[in-house]
Amino acid sequence: MLISGAVVLAMQIAATGMPIGIGAASQDGEICVAMPTGALAPGMTVTLIQPRPRQSVLSATIGRPTPSCERLEQAMISGPYYLTQRPTSKLPGSDTLWVAFPGTLGTRELSSGVITVQLSPAYPNAQVRSCTSHEGLHLTVWAGTPLKSDRLWHEYYYLGYDVEPSCTDRDVRDGAMPKMNPKSIRSHLKPYSISSKRRTTVPHAFASALGPCDEYDQWRIEQALTALGQEDLDHLTCVYCGRPGQTWDHLENLVKAGRFNAYGHQIGNLVPSCRECNSEKGGQSFRAFVAADTRLTEVERAALIRRLENHLALAKPIEPGALDPDRQEILSKFLAVQVQILQLMEEADKYASLLRARSDG
Ligand SMILES: [Zn+2]
Repeated sequence: MLISGAVVLAMQIAATGMPIGIGAASQDGEICVAMPTGALAPGMTVTLIQPRPRQSVLSATIGRPTPSCERLEQAMISGPYYLTQRPTSKLPGSDTLWVAFPGTLGTRELSSGVITVQLSPAYPNAQVRSCTSHEGLHLTVWAGTPLKSDRLWHEYYYLGYDVEPSCTDRDVRDGAMPKMNPKSIRSHLKPYSISSKRRTTVPHAFASALGPCDEYDQWRIEQALTALGQEDLDHLTCVYCGRPGQTWDHLENLVKAGRFNAYGHQIGNLVPSCRECNSEKGGQSFRAFVAADTRLTEVERAALIRRLENHLALAKPIEPGALDPDRQEILSKFLAVQVQILQLMEEADKYASLLRARSDG
């Protein structure tokens, strides 16, 4: 395996000599861990800390080494890579990332929801952090409070798409440049498949097109947001965590299990959210997402769910089953077009594959 010495050094914690790596959840519920050479072996445990607010800890056992790990390779994180055994607890989501420490380390959850980790007697209260730069994440480990204590470790995780930058100088100083190695070309060396690339986006577009849509009405919107508990309408805050809002989250997703979900772009279905909460919520229902928020008390969670349900009540869902016969027929035609489009894409894939095969010979 090609591991350059510089990369291994970069992943090591300079101050304590402890190797630190990165864990990434995969689609099929496994966790892939990248760690400096020699730091892990099957049967060892790793302590995984999810660095974004609403931090969490997971302990996992290393199952086996693996030659490749697509998500980490695309992010330009070098191996060696290991797959953990399936954790017994449910994974937070397939896009979750962790800072990984070998062994079972003592951790403590502060009332703010921040996790501290005991790296060594010299660093009993280390903390992890992630922030965004233009096209990626900077993952860091600090001796104490991030940005206010010594930075012990740093790694750049390449995302490949634009994100709103949130990093400070202290996060990224000492010229953290995105690394690139020959292995990362692998994700490009595979034939493109129209049908597999569009298998979820086409149904999503069709379901979105069915979504009912409210007209812009400033008075109604302000009323709804005030009722939702927003105190300053010029500075909307995330309904889930209270930080400054950045995006509008659809309380009920437009698409559920590949199908139209009765709700659309309605004032009552849209709430201010920060980017982290919006992406963490993903395909979950807002009820499940809030119910899993350990930073809130039981009473606070129930109150928030009630408030969001009251907001959602402003949006009238469309139940496809309740349509009159004429519209039911139009809906059938509409859904038949979607099936045809998917079939046509598969046909196109077959032709493309024949053409590629010919040009190879
Ligand atoms: Zn939030």
